Order: sequence, then C-alpha cells, then structure tokens
Amino acid sequence: MVTISGVNKHFGELHALKDIDLTVDDGEVVVLIGPSGSGKSTLCRTINRLETVDSGTVTVNGKPLPAEGRALANLRADVGMVFQHFNLFAHLTVQQNITLGPVKVRRTPKAKADERARQLLERVGLSEKADVYPSQLSGGQQQRVAIARGLAMDPKLMMFDEPTSALDPEMINEVLDVMQDLAREGMTMVVVTHEMGFARRAANRVVFMAEGQIVETATPDEFFDDPKTERAQDFLSKVM
Ligand code: ATP
Ligand code: MG
Repeated sequence: MVTISGVNKHFGELHALKDIDLTVDDGEVVVLIGPSGSGKSTLCRTINRLETVDSGTVTVNGKPLPAEGRALANLRADVGMVFQHFNLFAHLTVQQNITLGPVKVRRTPKAKADERARQLLERVGLSEKADVYPSQLSGGQQQRVAIARGLAMDPKLMMFDEPTSALDPEMINEVLDVMQDLAREGMTMVVVTHEMGFARRAANRVVFMAEGQIVETATPDEFFDDPKTERAQDFLSKVM
C-alpha cells in the first residue's frame, strides 16, 4: 500500500527525517511512537505530500506521489487524514462537512453522498448531529466527525496524527473505539499516538522513532514487553 524508501527531509539545518524505510501493507495498522520532535508528523505528511522529500521515494499503491493538480487531489482523497486539531469547516454543518469532499473531488451525486454521510454518522454514533455546526459539538464528537469525513472519500489508507491528544480524558476512548473498530474491519492505518494501550491493542506493528530515525520496529508485544534498544527502553520508562 505505502512504500517509503531512503527518505530524507531537512528543514534548513535540521535533518528531520534520516534514511527512512517503511512499508505499510494492505490492512495493516502501523502505530508510530516516539518523543516530541522525532519526525512522526513529518513522516506522515510525506505520505500525502503535505511535505515534499529531499531524497528517496514514497509510493502509494505502487505509484509515485503526483506533484500537483487533479492527480494530487485524488491521492489526498485516497489517504484520509485526521489531525490533533479537528479542522472541520466551521461554517458548514456536520453533514455538509462530510459530503463536501465526495461531491467536489469524487463527483459523487449529492443524494448518494448524503445517504453515505448518514450511514457514516450512524457508524461513529452521531446520527442526531447531522445538522449542527462543529462549534456545537464536543471535542470527541468533532473528532468522530473528522473520521467520518475521511471515510466518506472511501480512502485506501487512513492516517491519524495524535487524534486524541487535544481531548479531555473522558472523550479519548470514544475516539479510540471508533479507530479500533476501523482497524478490526481491515482498514489500512498509520497512527501517531501517545495512547500506549491503543497501540498495544490495535497495532500490527509498532515503529519507534527518535531524532528523525526509525530506531526500532516490532510487534506490540515485543515492543512493550521487551524493547531492544536503550532509546526505546528509556522512552517507555517515561510514558508507561
Ligand atoms: P510531536 O510529538 O511533538 O508532534 P513529531 O515527532 O511529530 O513531534 P515533527 O513535527 O515531525 O515531530 O517535527 C520533527 C522536527 O522537524 C522538529 O524538530 C520540528 O521542529 C521540525 N519541523 C517540523 N516541521 C517544520 C517546518 N515546517 N519548518 C521547520 N521545522 C519543522
Ligand atoms: Mg507531531
């Protein structure tokens, strides 16, 4: 699904991604963890070309990332992204937030997009909220709408960059539960999170990054029970 090979990225003097090699297979859930500033968000952003790379290649479904235009818009529709801050369109209702992409980018007929939005809202437990505006929702509800909006594009891959870190504790699980259901249903996912319980339950593979490098890749049980590198041991001792 995604192949990243030999990727380097600099921000001025800062070498933010160092020789990154990573593949994500169909149906796989890869959880990226690591300290602040280690390059997790930057790596995610290279996958839908929100960030360009200095060297190396990123391919999605065997094809290199398109640089611009309609091909890039289609790539971004194939790769759903949910961020820490909900970034729903404030002037659109929940329903309109979800149908905008399918109608504009996928050219889905309005009635069909509306029907699909209703199904997705039911799936994330927000059937009654179709006609309200984002400001009338809690953070956890907004984040579930953001997930529904991503899914409305029928993405091949969903990326989540710390989707719960801006939420009050009591709302975290309602979002993680939706993500866990998605993982169970076989969605291909890349998830950056500090929720170690979720990583353990939902990941097929944990990728630990530090200082722009992938330091360790392991199954969740291996990683959490028996981390191999000192860097990972040190990190886990601070967060667990
Ligand atoms: P966090 O856990 O805090 O979200 P992260 O692992 O996601 O951290 P990144 O956001 O990928 O880290 O940042 C990696 C490094 O690149 C950091 O040192 C950051 O300051 C730097 N960086 C990221 N984006 C830019 C940018 N647009 N311009 C300059 N430096 C940047
Ligand atoms: Mg980040």
